[in-house]
Amino acid sequence: MMSETVPINFLLVDDLAENLLALEALLQREGLVCLKARSGEEALELLLIHDVALALLDVQMPGMDGFQLAEFMRGSERARHIPIIFVTAGTTDAQRRFRGYETGAVDFIQKPIEADILRSKANVFFDLHQQHRQILAQRDELAANADALRTVDRNKNEFLAVLGHELRNPVMALGAGLHLLNRHDDPVKALEIRRQMERQVVHLSRIVDDLLDISRIDQGKIELRKERVDLQTVLAFAVEASQPQIEANRHTLTTDILAEQTWLDADPTRVAQVVSNLLNNAAKYTPEGGQIGLVARVADGFAEIEVSDNGIGIPEEMRSKIFDLFAQVKSPVTRAQEGLGIGLALVKQLVELHGGTISLKSSGLNVGSSFQVRLPVVG
Ligand code: ADP
Repeated sequence: MMSETVPINFLLVDDLAENLLALEALLQREGLVCLKARSGEEALELLLIHDVALALLDVQMPGMDGFQLAEFMRGSERARHIPIIFVTAGTTDAQRRFRGYETGAVDFIQKPIEADILRSKANVFFDLHQQHRQILAQRDELAANADALRTVDRNKNEFLAVLGHELRNPVMALGAGLHLLNRHDDPVKALEIRRQMERQVVHLSRIVDDLLDISRIDQGKIELRKERVDLQTVLAFAVEASQPQIEANRHTLTTDILAEQTWLDADPTRVAQVVSNLLNNAAKYTPEGGQIGLVARVADGFAEIEVSDNGIGIPEEMRSKIFDLFAQVKSPVTRAQEGLGIGLALVKQLVELHGGTISLKSSGLNVGSSFQVRLPVVG
């Protein structure tokens, strides 16, 4: 924890340098930093900058004496809570003692100083200071955790709302389709209705499959059916799966895939799902007639698969979040498009299960985006 590595400061105030050195030698140990002041003024300057666990004040000093210094300290927001040990010469008269207590002094120690007593008194305050720091650090940590939980909870709630909408659309369309089918005898019309219904079923199934995948990954229950597969075949599957989406939007797909046969130890369905998801996104977030690119090469033992488009791009503030679960939900602007914001989160997890990485290589508003997936190759 941070509080264990940050040293603890203590302040010694005495007009005599040799006293300062003697006290320092007596108290110094690892993890402590000794701040020394030859006068009350010097001490106040140090207190402006440093956080101090304990102040040892010589009572008798020319100019501002120890008690006056203590009074100043009590008057300052920063120094008010610093415990003070007054070092008094010989026997102190009761009145002076009293003045000391009034200003909030914590303790007195008399010269000649008994080393063990001073050390154990000082240690009590150092320990207290350390504990106080730990409590503050724990408090901050708890607050940060609570904050993160609140965000997750809010995202999940918003996600449920979006999911409801997403599911309702195809369900309504299917209901309407059934209704129409019941009324139409015309086989041509019926065929068209069935085609539409099929598309809705495909869409529904994709949502449900993604949801199941996400929850399986979350519970560590997903199983990769790994085999030795060649990259070219997997990419061909992915392109085939995304073709309808690309064509529907009249995009042009340009591929540049290395010719040399490249083997992966991977689940071919999942890798194809990853690439196809990126291609679908490229198609979805690019205005009609756009350019989509798929490039694959090998570098440093990894297959590098890049999917790029010249579409709407990803706003700066979204870029760090797009791989988070339910990311898209927060952006009602892009919500005009269908989507639950779980696709990229799923893609990232699938890539990582394969020992790979995914990154957004570049993105510019209305210039397009480019994603890169890296997967280890065999041999
Ligand atoms: P969704 O189901 O909403 O598409 P994803 O997880 O696949 O969810 O993507 C998250 C968000 O990232 C999308 O909603 C979209 O805003 C943005 N995004 C993903 N891919 C692209 C892209 N190629 N171009 C522009 N924005 C994209």
